[in-house]
Amino acid sequence: MAIHEECGVFGIWDKNGSCAEETYYALYALQHRGQESCGIATINDREMSSYRAQGLVGDVFTPEKLRELNGTMAVGHVRYSTSGGNKQENAQPLSLRYVKGTLALAHNGNLVNAASLKTRYEYSGAIFHTTTDSEIIAYAIAQERLRCGSVEEAVNRAVKHLRGAFSLIVMSPQKLIAARDPWGFRPLCMGRREDAVVFASESCALDAVGAEYVRELDPGEIVMVYNGEVTSIRDNCPQDNGHLCIFEYIYFARPDSFIAGQSVHEARVMAGRYLARRSPVDADVVVGVPDSGLSAADGYALESGIPKATGFIKNRYIGRTFIAPEQSEREKGVRIKLNPQKAVVAGKRVVMIDDSIVRGTTSKQIVKLLRDAGAKEVHIRISSPEFISPCYFGTDIPDRKDLVSCRYKPDELGKLLGADSLAFLALEDLHKIAPNANCGFCDGCFTEKYPIGVEWE
Ligand code: SF4
Repeated sequence: MAIHEECGVFGIWDKNGSCAEETYYALYALQHRGQESCGIATINDREMSSYRAQGLVGDVFTPEKLRELNGTMAVGHVRYSTSGGNKQENAQPLSLRYVKGTLALAHNGNLVNAASLKTRYEYSGAIFHTTTDSEIIAYAIAQERLRCGSVEEAVNRAVKHLRGAFSLIVMSPQKLIAARDPWGFRPLCMGRREDAVVFASESCALDAVGAEYVRELDPGEIVMVYNGEVTSIRDNCPQDNGHLCIFEYIYFARPDSFIAGQSVHEARVMAGRYLARRSPVDADVVVGVPDSGLSAADGYALESGIPKATGFIKNRYIGRTFIAPEQSEREKGVRIKLNPQKAVVAGKRVVMIDDSIVRGTTSKQIVKLLRDAGAKEVHIRISSPEFISPCYFGTDIPDRKDLVSCRYKPDELGKLLGADSLAFLALEDLHKIAPNANCGFCDGCFTEKYPIGVEWE
C-alpha cells in the first residue's frame, strides 16, 4: 500500500481568456495529486460558472462543458480526500454566494483546528453543506469579508484563524488570490505567460499551459491579481523559512516539477545516491518501482555502478494502486498494475528501489512478483526513512498502529517481506536530498516532530 495523494490546485488570470481550457490542461498535469474528483470555476464578465464531479479530468470535462465555462479567470482543483470523504458535494472548487457576492475556492492541505473552528462557526449560526475543512475556510473568508473592505483583506484576516496546511486559490468576480499557510506545508508556485498570471501546486502545471515559473509563494504570503497587476500581502509570513513537506520531493510531486527551486527528479536521484553510499549491496541490476522509485533508482545505479534496467512494466490504463479505497481492491490493483520484466530480473541479484513502506502489503507483493519472475535475490532500498508517525497536514499516512515500521526493525521487516535485505534512507541524509530548496522542511512522519503541536488541537 502506498500513500494516497492530497490535492492539486490551479488558478489563472488571462484577459484574452480561454481560461477553462487552460485549467483543463493544467489539471491534467496535476492529476497525480488527486483522482477522486475535479472541478473548474470561471469568471466571465463578473459572472461565475462552475462544474465539478467525481472522476478523472479527462472523463469529467467534455469540449462542450469547457466552452460553456470559458472566461478570463479560472480556478481548478483535483482531489483526493484526506478530510471529509469522497462525496460528490466535497468536490472542489467550492463556490458560494453570500451577501457580498460570489467566491470560488480551491484548497490543498488539511487544517488541524478544523473541528474547533467548525463548532465555533456552527454556534454562531453557520450551516455547512460539505464535510470538508475547505468549506470552513470559505466560510471564514465570507465572514471576514463582512467586516472589511476587500476580498484580499478578508483572506488575510481569515487565514489568521487557520492552523495547519493550506495552499489556496480564491476567486472573486474581479480578483484572483493565492495564499499559502505560514508553515508552507504544501507547495504553491506562480508563473507568467505574457500578460497572464498563473498559480499552481506544481510547476509541471505551468509547463502544461506554456507559462514560465516565476517563484514559489513564500510561507504565509498572499498574492493577488487584479486587472493583471500583481500585489503581495506578507502580514502572515513567519521569521523562519517554513516547513515544506519533504515527502513532496520523495513521492507526491511529479519528477519534472521544481519546488522551491529544487528539481524533484534531482532530489530523488540524491536520495538514491545516499542509499547506495550507506546501504551498498553486491547485485547485478537496479530496478525502480514506477513511478516514484525510478529517479531514485537512477541515483542508486549512478552511485553504485550497478546497471539500472526497466524491471517493471506499468499498466498505464489503470489508476495508481491506491485510488481504490478498499484493501481488497488495492491488492488486486498491484497485480494488475505491475508486471516484472522476466528478461531483466531472471537469475539476477536485484536491487529494488521504492519510495516508502506504509503497511508493507504492497512491498511484499512486489518482492513476490520479482521472485516469481526468477530473481535470485531481492534487496529492497527505500528512498525515504521509516514512517513512524501519521501526517496531519493533507496526506493520509495512517496511525502508528498501521505503520509497519512501528512494529519491526528493518532486518525483521525485510524478512517479513520476503527480501534478502532491506534498508531505508537514513534520517541524517533526508534533508540533504534537496540542497537547492530555499526553504525549511516538515519531516514529522519520520521523526514525530511536527512544526505544529497537533496533539493539543
Ligand atoms: S508529516 Fe510527513 S507527509 Fe505530512 S507534511 Fe510532514 S513530511 Fe509531509
